Amino acid sequence: METMVHTADAEGIALGAELLRRGDVFALPTETVYGIAADARNGAAVQKIFAAKGRPQDNPLIVHIADLSMLEGLVREAPERAQLLAPAFWPGPLTIIMPRGPQVAAECCAGLDTVGIRMPSHPAAQAVIRASGCAFAAPSANLSGSPSPTTAADVLADMQGRLPLILDGGPCDVGVESTVVSVVGEHPMLLRPGHITLEQLEAALGEEVLLSGAILEKLKDGEVARSPGMKYKHYAPKADITILEGSFAQFKAYVDAHRALSPSCLCFTGEEQALGVPCVAYGREGDGDDQAKHLFRCLRALDEQGDGIVYARCPQKDGVSMAVYNRLVRAAAFRVVKL
Ligand code: AMP
Ligand code: MG
Repeated sequence: METMVHTADAEGIALGAELLRRGDVFALPTETVYGIAADARNGAAVQKIFAAKGRPQDNPLIVHIADLSMLEGLVREAPERAQLLAPAFWPGPLTIIMPRGPQVAAECCAGLDTVGIRMPSHPAAQAVIRASGCAFAAPSANLSGSPSPTTAADVLADMQGRLPLILDGGPCDVGVESTVVSVVGEHPMLLRPGHITLEQLEAALGEEVLLSGAILEKLKDGEVARSPGMKYKHYAPKADITILEGSFAQFKAYVDAHRALSPSCLCFTGEEQALGVPCVAYGREGDGDDQAKHLFRCLRALDEQGDGIVYARCPQKDGVSMAVYNRLVRAAAFRVVKL
């Protein structure tokens, strides 16, 4: 199959919308990361997403809508908490888990009776939904197990020959996947951290939001992943990454003591010179937005340099940085050294 890369302009939108209507798949930009879209009501179309990505069938997909009227049929009901969250954060990088409606293809939900719904703010994603009349199911547009793509070139690197079309809308603003919150249980629960923070969710709901077990630590043996994607070793680069938790001075001392291993560093902006080893800077220290925006591109840049040992500076674990830590600790296969 030929993969065409086309600007996400009016012509590109029309091409994408036509593919959706025909039951085919293509890649497009959203404000979080690039996604692979298929009509969420068409099971055969959704199957093609799993085939293109090599994604396990038990990992459910998020369904994307362009306005609230599209919820009809996709959800059985919109719980009260969803009605507080949607006006506060939609359109934007928040996925709300709700009771599944009859129109959603079973293939989107991995056997669950719930569905994740999101209203993206990216104009290209909205335009494709409006032009096609299709709510689309979409996971990130990477091969399963590699970092999510935040540029069209990164999509092409994984998906060449596996998709007919990639719409290029430039680099993604947010850079990490959407926040996922469930409102189907007794208490609201954060299943995946993202740009919309725990603190923001609690302020909008006026109550505590529980933190799902797998967010900052590895699932224990036998523990069930509430968010199925969390059980996979995600974002696995070729390099052996270890997060070093401590001050910059402690980090530098550790790197100096391990120079014989020829390590590289995933550091904060401005630290490269002082470390004196090959470095990739993933954002400014303490700036979760900046780190989120660049992390996945940096993980891919490390891969392009080959394998080897990588020591990573540790982001904070609150606010947007919780999302950064959540992705980085998976890329590091949960190897964290406290200095
Ligand atoms: P991705 O498509 O790569 O952004 O991953 C989407 C993630 O959203 C999945 O891996 C799940 O962790 C989560 N998700 C989607 N739908 C549901 C659902 N119905 N219940 C719980 N988690 C979900
Ligand atoms: Mg993904």
